[in-house]
Amino acid sequence: MSSTPNQTDNPSSSQTLDVLVVGAGISGLAIAHELVFAKWRQVLIAEAQDRVGGAIVSMQNEEGYLWEEGPNSFQPAPELLRLAVEVGLKDELVLANGKLPRFVFLNGRLNALPMSPPAAIATKLLNWGNKIRLALGAMGFARPAMAGEESVDQFFSRLLGKQAVERLVAPFISGVYAGDPKKLSAKAAFGKIFRLEESYGGLVAGALLSSKERKAQKANHADLPKVKAGELGSFRQGIKMLPEAIAQKLRAQGTAVKQKWTLRSLEKQGEVYISKFDTPTGEEIVRSRSVVLTTPAYVTAKLLQDYLPNASQALSEIFYPTVACVVLAYPKTEFIYDMQGFGNLIPRTQGVRTLGTIWSSSLFAGRAPQGWQLLLNFIGGTLDPALAKLSEAEIVQAVHQDLKKTLLKPNTKVEPKAIAVHVWDKAIPQYEIGHLQRLATVDAELQKSAGLYISANFIGGVALGDCIKRGLQEALKIDQFLKRQ
Ligand SMILES: Cc1cc2nc3c(=O)[nH]c(=O)nc-3n(C[C@H](O)[C@H](O)[C@H](O)COP(=O)(O)OP(=O)(O)OC[C@H]3O[C@@H](n4cnc5c(N)ncnc54)[C@H](O)[C@@H]3O)c2cc1C
Repeated sequence: MSSTPNQTDNPSSSQTLDVLVVGAGISGLAIAHELVFAKWRQVLIAEAQDRVGGAIVSMQNEEGYLWEEGPNSFQPAPELLRLAVEVGLKDELVLANGKLPRFVFLNGRLNALPMSPPAAIATKLLNWGNKIRLALGAMGFARPAMAGEESVDQFFSRLLGKQAVERLVAPFISGVYAGDPKKLSAKAAFGKIFRLEESYGGLVAGALLSSKERKAQKANHADLPKVKAGELGSFRQGIKMLPEAIAQKLRAQGTAVKQKWTLRSLEKQGEVYISKFDTPTGEEIVRSRSVVLTTPAYVTAKLLQDYLPNASQALSEIFYPTVACVVLAYPKTEFIYDMQGFGNLIPRTQGVRTLGTIWSSSLFAGRAPQGWQLLLNFIGGTLDPALAKLSEAEIVQAVHQDLKKTLLKPNTKVEPKAIAVHVWDKAIPQYEIGHLQRLATVDAELQKSAGLYISANFIGGVALGDCIKRGLQEALKIDQFLKRQ
């Protein structure tokens, strides 16, 4: 373990740091936190924007609205909960009722997603032939996979049938990736589910066995906040409390968290990485024994262009679609439903452009003034590239017209209260066919550069819990590398 005093506030000196973490999204912050916890003191985290959190954007206004423009909730995975507890957020955690129904909009109305076998039998989302098809497929009675990498569409059609894909799987893909099931790789995007079939011969058998594993894991986390099945998490003032609390704790421990520091180039001289940053006060040069890049794939690709050209090429092929998060509020009286639920997803076959809507103020208390309903709508994605050409006002109108078809009284005269429109030009990395091969290329070239690491949401899952879990694993590798050196 290192015991050198912290001098990271003056990186341009000739001193060599232990670790430079590039990017202060949840991945970079989780890694820095873990390394500092492991007693590495010469750690610097550099972020291009003037705030930490990356994709996490929680906002509030004086009218009493509190909303998210990026991730809206998270699966309370043990690694995430532990991190939250370590940075003092145990009492700030809020959990949405796991029993809140999720809906799919089909044939002009909302249909609750079946959450149990009896509900699956009763659901109107599938006809009888397809229910039987789905049940048999889930138990393992499905055609074997064809040679080659299967798309999400091919994998789930083979297992569960075409109708289940159109009405259940594809809307879910819209909700998580804003992606195209025909392009996404089943193995890369749904690794856990893919392995259930591969290892256990069926989704049901696999799910039962893996739930046993989960229970065994739970016993190891007895000190963490208790979470019931299906509950989703956030924090009292929004998800941004987590990155902000991590950054605050890092600073309190003497670690420099630099904002408005944009990494422009990276090279290795002998055993030392030389990183050049644009900062508000001019160029800063950081020397470090190791570097971890948590930047998006297209940024990392540019940074590695000269140094690791094959990795750079592979990273540049990872596609990010444009997605807009449109936060609107309406008086509760304008809805046809009682709005007791998590939200709704919309299959692409239903003549509605919006991908889905989270009923934000139904999920967590205190997100909208009395009598108002706050909605977070997603629109755009791989299948709707034309969205990128719309103005913000046009996007709001497109979503409003859709809401009149899905949730609002069709003849409502009320215009939406437009709280925020956040257009993410490059929103979520798509784990498309060939993704795992691309990552293998990146990994192979990284092996040639001891001390250089990549940990970001294009590897091993986009969810916040995945980013944290992967970050902790990467921190362990860095810790071992530094000790070996
Ligand atoms: C619209 C949207 C909705 C989502 N919804 C959910 C959800 O409900 N639940 C969930 O679990 N997940 C959700 N996700 C996914 C999740 O939010 C992200 O995968 C995760 O936050 C990514 O974290 P990260 O640290 O890997 O990357 P980022 O958050 O992208 O962080 C990378 C950081 O690197 C910085 N950077 C870039 N270039 C440079 C440079 N040259 N120098 C220095 N710094 C640089 C960036 O400014 C950024 O802060 C959503 C994502 C989006 C976009």
